[in-house]
Amino acid sequence: TQQDVRALVESNLATIPDFPEPGVLFRDLTPVFADGPAFHALSEALVEPFAGRFDVLAGVEARGFLLAGAASALCGAGLLPIRKAGKLPRRVLREEYALEYGTAALEVHEGELAPGTRVLIVDDVLATGGTVAAAARLVERAGWRVAGVSVAIELVDLGGRAALDDGHETFSLLQY
Ligand code: AMP
Repeated sequence: TQQDVRALVESNLATIPDFPEPGVLFRDLTPVFADGPAFHALSEALVEPFAGRFDVLAGVEARGFLLAGAASALCGAGLLPIRKAGKLPRRVLREEYALEYGTAALEVHEGELAPGTRVLIVDDVLATGGTVAAAARLVERAGWRVAGVSVAIELVDLGGRAALDDGHETFSLLQY
């Protein structure tokens, strides 16, 4: 059950105070990735709520790649890498988003998927929501449809769910 998956993931999760800077409580999934049954169960749990409602999984660089890649292989869906700026070799669409200091940008290849393809966006942690909101804007500008957003961990106090103001359906396995 989802309860069992939660317990399995939570028991493998590492929580590191003051990383990468003072005041941040960093949620580290690498011990979950290192545990076969936990990684399998987490990957499956992220797509289960959206079963039958997506065609492709989009992973946000870099930790989103691991979850979206594993989940794609499990369910037979395609994979769209949403990359940091400057990595993709063909014509791209770019979306900038705010970081605490400055901005960052995400890119996808224009025309990578057929128009109307239903894309489920996957990442490890939903914090302020800036990252997945930019990913969702990219998917829409490219002419595809956002099937939803699925993350392992949601940091509820940072209000990321509300920042996804297009009302995209959002699933998180764990909330802190
Ligand atoms: P945001 O754009 O604010 O939602 O930040 C989300 C991105 O930053 C995700 O891709 C996470 O990998 C990373 N992130 C933000 N806060 C944390 C945290 N407390 N622990 C781990 N990763 C985080």
